[in-house]
Amino acid sequence: MISQILDIPVEVCKSPVLYNGFDRSRNQFDATEILTCLDVFSRRNEENRLILLVTGDDIFRPHTRYVFGLSRPKTKTAVISSARLNNEYWGLPYDEMMLIDRLSREGAHELGHLLFLDHCSNPSCIMANPSTLDDLDIKKSMLCPSCLAKMNKKKVSVFV
Ligand SMILES: [Zn+2]
Ligand SMILES: [Zn+2]
Repeated sequence: MISQILDIPVEVCKSPVLYNGFDRSRNQFDATEILTCLDVFSRRNEENRLILLVTGDDIFRPHTRYVFGLSRPKTKTAVISSARLNNEYWGLPYDEMMLIDRLSREGAHELGHLLFLDHCSNPSCIMANPSTLDDLDIKKSMLCPSCLAKMNKKKVSVFV
């Protein structure tokens, strides 16, 4: 689905990426530390492709309560978390299709940053910046015409 949204080739790899950054007091992982571990992984493997790690762990960025995902365009690495994209987290019935749909839209958003796209003011664009799940659910599974025009096709790896 990500490859359809961004119109780029995507490979899914089962990967033994180990990361740290667990914050015991918050019971969450620091997404910036996960990205640092991914940077090391990418360098060690001489990986030139973009890397998106999909984790089930709840993640945060310093000074925020949580994030759905975080990216670091300079090193071509990004992470997204399914923890809060899951209906069950919010007390709603489990819906696998909904979870996959949100993961693919959030994943496409972070990969968009890796392709040097900025946030977009169009709320239905993949590059809109969602602060809540409702914001995320408003987004369509596509880039708006102006973001689409900015994007160049690149090759991407998705690590799960
Ligand atoms: Zn963003
Ligand atoms: Zn846009």
